[in-house]
Amino acid sequence: MIRSTRFDELKATGQLPSPTGVALTILRLTQDDKATVAEITRVLQSDPALAGRILKYANSAAMSAVQPIVSVPQAVMRLGLRTVRRLALGFSIISNCRRNLCPQFDYQRFWSCSLATAIAAQALAHHTKTTPPDEAFTCGLLCQIGRLAFASVYPREYSDVLALAADNEEHLLALEQQTFATDHNDMTVAMLADWGLPETCVNAVRYFGRGQNCTRSSNSSPEAALADLLHVASHLAAVCVAEQDERDRLTLDLLTCGEYLRIGPTDLMALADRVGQEWQEWGKLLDVPTQSVPPFADLVERARRAQEAETPHSQGTNEATTPLPSVPMNISPSATGGLRLLVVDDSPVTLRLLTKQLTDMGHIVHTAEDGHAALRLVLETNPQLIITDWQMPALDGIGLCQSLRQTRMGQQLYIIMLTANEDEDHLVQALSAGADDYMVKPVRPRTLEARLRAAQRILRLQEEIERDKEKIQRYAAELAIMNRKLEQAAFTDALTNLPNRRYATDRLKQEWAESVRSHQPLACLMMDIDHFKQINDTYGHDVGDVVLQETAAVLRQSLRLNDVVCRMGGEEFLVICPDTDVRGAVVCAERLRRAVEAHIIRTAEFNRHVTLSIGVAARGEGMPHPDVLLRAADQALYAAKRSGRNRVCAIASVQTEDKLRQTA
Ligand code: GH3
Ligand code: MG
Ligand code: MG
Repeated sequence: MIRSTRFDELKATGQLPSPTGVALTILRLTQDDKATVAEITRVLQSDPALAGRILKYANSAAMSAVQPIVSVPQAVMRLGLRTVRRLALGFSIISNCRRNLCPQFDYQRFWSCSLATAIAAQALAHHTKTTPPDEAFTCGLLCQIGRLAFASVYPREYSDVLALAADNEEHLLALEQQTFATDHNDMTVAMLADWGLPETCVNAVRYFGRGQNCTRSSNSSPEAALADLLHVASHLAAVCVAEQDERDRLTLDLLTCGEYLRIGPTDLMALADRVGQEWQEWGKLLDVPTQSVPPFADLVERARRAQEAETPHSQGTNEATTPLPSVPMNISPSATGGLRLLVVDDSPVTLRLLTKQLTDMGHIVHTAEDGHAALRLVLETNPQLIITDWQMPALDGIGLCQSLRQTRMGQQLYIIMLTANEDEDHLVQALSAGADDYMVKPVRPRTLEARLRAAQRILRLQEEIERDKEKIQRYAAELAIMNRKLEQAAFTDALTNLPNRRYATDRLKQEWAESVRSHQPLACLMMDIDHFKQINDTYGHDVGDVVLQETAAVLRQSLRLNDVVCRMGGEEFLVICPDTDVRGAVVCAERLRRAVEAHIIRTAEFNRHVTLSIGVAARGEGMPHPDVLLRAADQALYAAKRSGRNRVCAIASVQTEDKLRQTA
């Protein structure tokens, strides 16, 4: 909950990397099971760049298409909705997030590396067959997206964090936690979950981020398998994007790593060559920079020779572990009575004097000699209050104030400016630059104490507001989840977990409209368990309930992907079959009837199968309304019951309202 609160907070800034409107629509459409292929295709076609990329993917070597695919609907059919959704998500984020706002963040390299990881993951998935390749592709593409999130939401702060971390991953994670109360791994996981990626993907990326992979166990879970795969893929990507001088070490790492997936060196090298090739092709398509990669056999040969030439003591690839920068504890003023302070002055004498006075008052004091050093220390020590001199070399007090106030973190700081001059113009200038208060040098201890007490009161209030804000955000997030659950419950039958009558009516209306619009057929099956009352009467209501649950489960399992089964009430079920005519629907109904008949339901008392009678009807040209279709299916069901039960009856031709009334 705490993590998701932090994520929601970041999300609320509206600055997180996010898919384009088109991709989001596709995401939404495919998520709620209600979307039709036609709808998705229509949305896709409204973004030609995205449509082009999806076509290209459908035709790529990875999909091993036999015949070239030339139209978007064909591509959607070929790839399936799930793949389309993932691709739309990935591609639209790439094209959306290239703005260079965060100076230390190398956007080009980020995407280049993400793309290489995606392609490598896909190729590895093809080889290992442990994960669907397209799932691996998306995970590879997005498994570092949390980094981009920080660069987008806090470009300035993240730039400082990156500079401080100096490419040390451990330091980076600690600094991220300290600065943003979350790190890029947690961010990635929260974002993928928020975008509705499958749980396997989200968990795999979580394990990958934590370095919880490389299980080597033969019976590892799908999550662990995918995490291993991502691990190897990211190594392969690192070799692709590396400069020549880094490549030797990385290449040998990769070979070791391949063992985790049980891929021998020969296979791995062949696979890596293909990945290098594809990476360059994809780079052109997506406008992401790549470079040519020499054949891996050559790279390995080179790396081995370099290793042999090295002195024996430098064996292995472990870097010396440097100590973490100290992470200051988040001590609140109310807890200790003291404040975390940063004092900035170019005069060592003043610094020493102020530090002594402040420490004596019980505050925790850090010092900096100029504005630039202060900016760095702000990130490192997370002060609550800054006392800064005005006149300093490089970045003076005014500049420091202005820089701090432009950042989110700096906006919450209390800043006191030291000035030698108390005339009005000076004070106005200091306050306009963002100072909260000023003190005239030399600072007298009593004044200092009084000013700090005032500051403390304001900081405490600010803290309370922050806490309230967090609480409200947490409530809002919980409320949103509760709403979603309630909404789901309103459309779900509690006994069987199938969609209920209300859902069925809505859904049928939607499919009806789509079928009229696209001139495609639409059929539905009304089904009813035979002699169900007898089961209730003989074995009791509880056994009756089990029979309903098991029958529902059999129906759900035996259904085609595009069909939906709902419980209409009692022992009656409705199946909606889009793009299906009467003949197709009868075949489907017969399959369901047989599946139910073949399934033995076992409870302590009851040990046999039940049967279904099914009425089939399809939308005819003369039908004015979906209710008429339902009534037609009901009629057919009645006919099935009358002619002996455990059978399928269809109303084949157009039934108008009048005819139905006559037969009723
Ligand atoms: P037919 O072959 O003509 O369909 O006969 P039937 O006995 O199945 O039909 P009828 O409509 O007479 O009986 C349906 C029974 O289903 C009556 C009702 O008590 C029972 N029923 C309705 N809802 C539930 C439920 O949620 N659980 C259980 N156990 N029984 C239910
Ligand atoms: Mg019945
Ligand atoms: Mg009934």
